[in-house]
Formats: sequence, structure tokens, C-alpha cells
Amino acid sequence: MGFSTDAIHAGQIPDPTTGAVITPIYQTSTYAQHELGKSTGFEYARTHNFTRQALEKNIAVLEKGKYGIAFASGLAATHALMNLVKAGDHIVISNNVYGGTYRLYELNMKNYGLDFSWVDSTDLKNVENAIRPNTKMIYVETPTNPMLNLTDLKAVSELAKKNNLISVCDNTFMSPYFQNPLTFGIDIVLHSTTKYLNGHSDIIGGMLITSDEKIHERIRYIQNAAGGVPSPFDCWLVLRSTKTLAVRMKQHEENANTFAKFLSESGYAKKVIYPGLKNHPQHELAKKQMRGFGGMVSADFGSLDAAKKVLNNVKIFTLAESLGGVESLISHPASMTHASVPKEERDKMGLTESLVRFSVGIEDIEDLIADVTQALK
Ligand SMILES: *Cc1c(COP(=O)(O)O)cnc(C)c1O
Repeated sequence: MGFSTDAIHAGQIPDPTTGAVITPIYQTSTYAQHELGKSTGFEYARTHNFTRQALEKNIAVLEKGKYGIAFASGLAATHALMNLVKAGDHIVISNNVYGGTYRLYELNMKNYGLDFSWVDSTDLKNVENAIRPNTKMIYVETPTNPMLNLTDLKAVSELAKKNNLISVCDNTFMSPYFQNPLTFGIDIVLHSTTKYLNGHSDIIGGMLITSDEKIHERIRYIQNAAGGVPSPFDCWLVLRSTKTLAVRMKQHEENANTFAKFLSESGYAKKVIYPGLKNHPQHELAKKQMRGFGGMVSADFGSLDAAKKVLNNVKIFTLAESLGGVESLISHPASMTHASVPKEERDKMGLTESLVRFSVGIEDIEDLIADVTQALK
């Protein structure tokens, strides 16, 4: 099936009781059992919830995977991943991942005997050189937030296989519409469904997707054992949203592309970063492993004052953390999403105080361009 057909139908059957076309919100904590030792297969809602299962199946299909395991947030999914490793193990991870991932792993999980090497994974040699005898996992995010650096997914998955390591890709920025890491041999895809998958800025959610039976078994176990599950209502909202993922992503991309070109040509920004621009250092890789370039654009305005001017004076773009919603958002990574990353680490990767990140929404592009133009004048 094509992507949109799957997005609208996968994992969803008319409700067996009423025929309701839309999967209902099964808002219950427990289920009546037929007789002692004989249940419907549903016993307790931390373990089983039909709305959640429908969402898990839906997103698994979109990511070309067999299993989806839903969590209450992207970071709950990120945390659950650490149940695949144990004290004494080592993980090689991209140095420019989501700020919350850095905070969770480096400032917290390290206390539990796990060790992390933060490497620039745009160059595979750095990943390879960081592998040790106790390495168990390679974790990448591509494109990264907010520098939009890419990692070669096929190369990473081959390196992982050669060394018997689990490979993980945070695919939040591209959504399954533009990129499917499992098709390059990556073992696990991670999503913050809070972003493009839900797309309406009204829930927090996460998902892990895999086709590996053993990995699925372990993560499914921890989903129930630790219980970081999303609510049926939140699952229902994401399931409602994936139906329009294709049309939303197309418009996000069209707008972001026009917006990035406008900013580049305007002379307002010192540097514009968008994988769809020919001057992006990894434009060729982007064309190879992505089916589009997404809706995120970053720009360095040269000074904090200039950055503040645009951040404080836009009227349609909303100053807020997060991304991937239908409405355009603007943010200042150095003081917002990446405040917990030490300044020297930020500077090393070009995440300066003058960098502004745009989550380009699906409003009329003329209005978005006019908005930024008036803010900068
Ligand atoms: C937001 C985000 C996360 C964390 O997800 P939450 O749903 O906020 O917990 C992880 N990775 C990326 C790339 C994100 O943008």
C-alpha cells in the first residue's frame, strides 16, 4: 500500500461492537473476565489497551517495522531503550542529539554504570573509533536538532552489524513520511510523537519501532513493567493525526524550502541551515536517504541582538519550545532546548547564541515571510 493509504487504514478496524469507523477511546483501567482463568485477552490497561494497540500498529506500518511500542513521551521511550543495556556497557551516541536525551543519558543514566561516548557521527570514522569491547549500542539522530547534521544510516547500520551492536535512530525530525531508518538496517526507530506524528501541539508521546523479535520482547516487557504508557485519549489524538501526516509533511516541506531560500537570499542571516539547500554540506546524503527535507530551518543571525530582534518581534511565529505542529514556532536553542548542554559543547558544534530555529508550519508562506521580514526591519 502507499503511504497515505497505510496512514489512514493501518491498525484500524471498525469497532466490533458498534461498527464505529474511528477506533474508539477505550477509557478503562480493567476488563471483565469471562470466568476464572479466561479473559478476552485484555486484562489490565497498563498491559493492554486497544486504542494504544491501534496506534502502535499504525506507526509500525508507517516505519516499515513489525512492532510499535508506545510511551508517555519521547523521553520515556528514550529511557526505556536503556533496558537493552546494563551496568558496565558503553553506548556511542551522536553529540548533537535532542537536549533532553543528553540530559537523561549523560547527567542521569551515567550514575547507573552506563558509559556514553558523544561523537560527531557525521563522520563515520568517529563512530568506529569510539567502539570499545564493552560497546552495546550506537544511537544516532538524523537530521539533528538544531544543526540539521546528517548521519549516514546505511553506513551506521553496517558498522553496528559488523560489531554486533544494537543501532538506534531518533527519526522525530523527518517523520516516517520522509525517512525510514529500518529500511537501511537500523534496529530501532525512536519518535517523539509529540512532534510531526501528532502535529497539532496538543499531546506528549513517544514510540519505539522495531522488527527484531528479541528487542520487541524486551521493550514490550519494560513498557508493562515500568508502565510509562500514554493515555488512551492521547493515543487516539495521534491516531487521528497520522491520517493527515502525508499532506501535512508535503506542506511543511514546501513552506520550509521557500522559507530557507528567502532567508538565504534576504541577507538578514549570516548562515541558513536546511538540508534541502544545495549549500548544505550533506545535501547529497540527504537526497540519498530522505524522501524530502522536512520542515525545520535554522539560521545564524550573527549576533545575539539580531537573533533577539527576530525572536521578540515575530507575530505569526510563536516563541516556544517544540516543533512539528501545524503552527509555526520559533526558538532559541542555546537558552531553551539546549540550555543543559555545556556552552563549550554547544560552541563546538556551532550552536551559538545567535542561532535561531524555525519550525515552519503550514500557514500561508507569504504570511510567514512577511512576518520575519517585519520583525527584522
Ligand atoms: C522532542 C524530542 C524528543 C523528546 O520527546 P518528548 O516527547 O518531548 O519527551 C526526542 N527527540 C527529539 C528529536 C525531539 O525533538
